[in-house]
Amino acid sequence: MALINKKLEFDTLKINGGYDSDAHARSVNVPIYQSAAFEFGDEARGERLFTNRELGFLYSRVGNPTVDALEQRIAALHGANAAISFASGMAAITNTLLQVGIGGSILTSYHLYGGTVDSFKKVYKDYGIRIDFSKNIYDPAKLEEDIKEDTKAIYVETVSNPTTDVADLEALAELAHKHNIPLIVDNTLLTPYLLNPIEYGADIVIYSATKNLSGHGNVVAGIVVEKGGFDWQNGKFPAFTEKYYTLRDVESDNDARTFPEVFPDFPFTARLRLVGLNFFGAKLSAFEAYLVILGLDTLSERIRKQQENLADIIAFLKSDKHVAWVNYPTLEGNPNKELAEKYLKKGAGNIFSFAIKGTTEQKNRFLDSLTLFHFHVNIGDVRSLIVNSPQTTHSELDGDERVKADLDEDLIRVSVGLEDSADLIEDLKTSLEQVFDS
Ligand SMILES: *Cc1c(COP(=O)(O)O)cnc(C)c1O
Repeated sequence: MALINKKLEFDTLKINGGYDSDAHARSVNVPIYQSAAFEFGDEARGERLFTNRELGFLYSRVGNPTVDALEQRIAALHGANAAISFASGMAAITNTLLQVGIGGSILTSYHLYGGTVDSFKKVYKDYGIRIDFSKNIYDPAKLEEDIKEDTKAIYVETVSNPTTDVADLEALAELAHKHNIPLIVDNTLLTPYLLNPIEYGADIVIYSATKNLSGHGNVVAGIVVEKGGFDWQNGKFPAFTEKYYTLRDVESDNDARTFPEVFPDFPFTARLRLVGLNFFGAKLSAFEAYLVILGLDTLSERIRKQQENLADIIAFLKSDKHVAWVNYPTLEGNPNKELAEKYLKKGAGNIFSFAIKGTTEQKNRFLDSLTLFHFHVNIGDVRSLIVNSPQTTHSELDGDERVKADLDEDLIRVSVGLEDSADLIEDLKTSLEQVFDS
């Protein structure tokens, strides 16, 4: 079944996009190509592959048909020019920013996944890249003051983990493009079902596919999506003006060429593949790509049910006298409500946070009393998950950084799953009663 060139809606693409069964023994499911290498066929084709005149599979560190099907599907779901997968969300982020940031700095904030912030503190300076943490990320008009001569990108989470702050993508994209730099976003919490950042001007979209994209808590994976059309040769990005012998033009003059010359539609992901995957080697395996593909089949349905459960749970928590506050972008009085109404018409995802009144000891006993909520670091699973983020997933942030991240010491993060909400509410209720009424 060939789908090429058909204009299809999201749910059709999430099941069929980027895969032509005619080319794969008519296999209904995307096959798992468990092979390190792929035959040249003949000498002439081998040469064409090595000189980029033909794009094909050579070696699974750089490309694999199962992984490719995932990448094509993710690109299709965004209407993007290309996508590339990595062994984890962190590999996707680090590979991206090490390419973009060469010789300069990345402008961002502390409102990020804990591992991202920690990597920003530990890794980049050793590679000559400065990370500028701004307090103005949620005030794009003021953020311009923080853009320096050597700023190479603005980096944000579309909805931040775990404080669920909503980024004003249109304003950020406008500002970035005014300064000839890309807007790079981590859209992990939302997935393309809830928000396609490319429609609002993002140039690069990154996912930890470990989370809602795959959705079953059974795989660690990362993906980078390239919209296409950004001018990487505007003088700010040495990686894209450098000419390489391996990109030479064998058909005319044998001159070395740049990535944008050889791959005009997707120069960024081409470089991530031929430099990032090729040399750093953090590739996704065929089996893991298959698991993400399997998860994508039910992406919209999972998120819709999770958001229904989330609404039930929040309604209960808001009515309970032991609960101090509940934070979710679409709630009445939430500071993110206006941006959520603009960007998140289908919902703000399955993550929210809350705090209970009482002592730390009571909070800990509450967490220990729960029996249905799983207690660990992951999010976006079919199971409901709970965690005290400041003490665990975000414990890398020191006191001052936690203040800058608006991370309340009492915050409890919940990732709502697909169980029956009545059971989840009963679990919360019983645990609160055990802590406060006995
Ligand atoms: C989990 C997560 C990451 C890191 O992804 P891994 O797949 O765990 O490497 C990055 N960003 C966000 C928002 C995340 O939640």
